[in-house]
Amino acid sequence: MGDYFERVVDVEVTGEEAGLLADRMVDWLVSEGLITRETSSDGMYSLQVDVGYEPGPNWARAVADSSDPSWIPGPVAVIVGRDSHVGGQGMSEADSATCPRCDTTTVIIDYPNEWEANQQVWQPFSDGIDTWKETGEGSVTCSSCEASVPVTEWLYGSGFALGALAFDFWGWPPLGVSFHAELSEQLRHRIDVHTGKF
Ligand SMILES: [Zn+2]
Repeated sequence: MGDYFERVVDVEVTGEEAGLLADRMVDWLVSEGLITRETSSDGMYSLQVDVGYEPGPNWARAVADSSDPSWIPGPVAVIVGRDSHVGGQGMSEADSATCPRCDTTTVIIDYPNEWEANQQVWQPFSDGIDTWKETGEGSVTCSSCEASVPVTEWLYGSGFALGALAFDFWGWPPLGVSFHAELSEQLRHRIDVHTGKF
């Protein structure tokens, strides 16, 4: 199960606050016995970091079902820094983006007719996201209502999120719904959850 991950992205924290919040979250996860301060790179393939924290004695508390004794979780990677996070493999675009001002959805990958992004439609998002990564601010003008909307406020299709702090749970059984809520409460921010395979 080492090549499977569940990723929790804080979609609200700023790049400036993310480092301190990451430290506070690691302290909390350690105090709860969910991870330890030991690190390992076994069975994890996060792009941004090489090692993660090993699961702690109470890891089963975080997952929906821990009844399979052969399913032992791997490291938890903590990823700090403004980034776009995608659940799918080999994909770097969102499949859609909905404007929070006028509620119009821009289709970027026109399933099931297309399996790749329309690069012309994606380009302004790609540019806005690059600017956001560099400076902390980037916007895309909505083609429908013409509002200039920050990239972090667009609502993306599932499996795509922008955030400055993310946690990759490598090889863990699916996390429980109540643990998702607890994470969000500890972060004091909204989260987005993806699963994927390496
Ligand atoms: Zn709009």
